[in-house]
Amino acid sequence: MQLFDTHCHYNLEPLLANWQKLWGDSQQAGINRSLIVGTTLASSQLAVEQASSDERLYASLGIHPGHVDQAADLEQAVSELKKMAANKQVIAFGEVGLDYYHLSNNLDQQAIKIEQKHLFLAMINLAKEANLPLILHVRDRGEAAYFETLELLEKHWSFEQAIIFHCVSGPLEYVRRALAMKNSYFGFDGNLTFKNAHYQREIFELVQQADSRKILLETDAPYLAPEPYRGQVCEPAMITSTANFAGQKLGLDLNLTYQNSLRAFGLL
Ligand SMILES: [Zn+2]
Repeated sequence: MQLFDTHCHYNLEPLLANWQKLWGDSQQAGINRSLIVGTTLASSQLAVEQASSDERLYASLGIHPGHVDQAADLEQAVSELKKMAANKQVIAFGEVGLDYYHLSNNLDQQAIKIEQKHLFLAMINLAKEANLPLILHVRDRGEAAYFETLELLEKHWSFEQAIIFHCVSGPLEYVRRALAMKNSYFGFDGNLTFKNAHYQREIFELVQQADSRKILLETDAPYLAPEPYRGQVCEPAMITSTANFAGQKLGLDLNLTYQNSLRAFGLL
């Protein structure tokens, strides 16, 4: 069995402190490729440095919507990301998108949503210019972030390269519309294994029935540790629990999923 962790954060604490050991553990567990995803300028730069140390590690560059404050000088941020993108291990942009989940207590909700959209649009344009796939982070307690993301993609994305709906969540109608998009892929994480994750498995089955070539596996480590590690720091090697669960309980074809990862990121 070959595994590609298509979304992890060796570039974030607490993984960063001993990431080389953790990458070693992952290889022992059968993971032969991993994509390290940036969330800020600094963590994007770290992802590039880590990926440069091993040809089976890749980097993705981006500013997460939760870090929109980092992009106060958007032009400067874009120019720094462009420089980083020259590294050959950089295979995607993201994680970028809209996150309204944590805004409910914020008085400046509207202003922050507008800033997030500006940032997202700049990231869409960067990926388009560099002709690289785009990794999306979308989260909301309601539905707005999901459907606004689709609108922005429909208006501005080229659909030449893959778009990856990382740790996919949201209304089924949103997932259906995303499924209909050309070159769309869906990342599933450890929360698929949670005992009460009936809705997450409904999303999985919807994607699987529509097109199992669109499924990717990821950890989002250090977040979302799968059963039986739920609640602990997620180490990337734990992806084997998610993979075994999806393979045995949900009938996921793991070889096909590995091929999907290579195809999505232009590594075939
Ligand atoms: Zn992430």
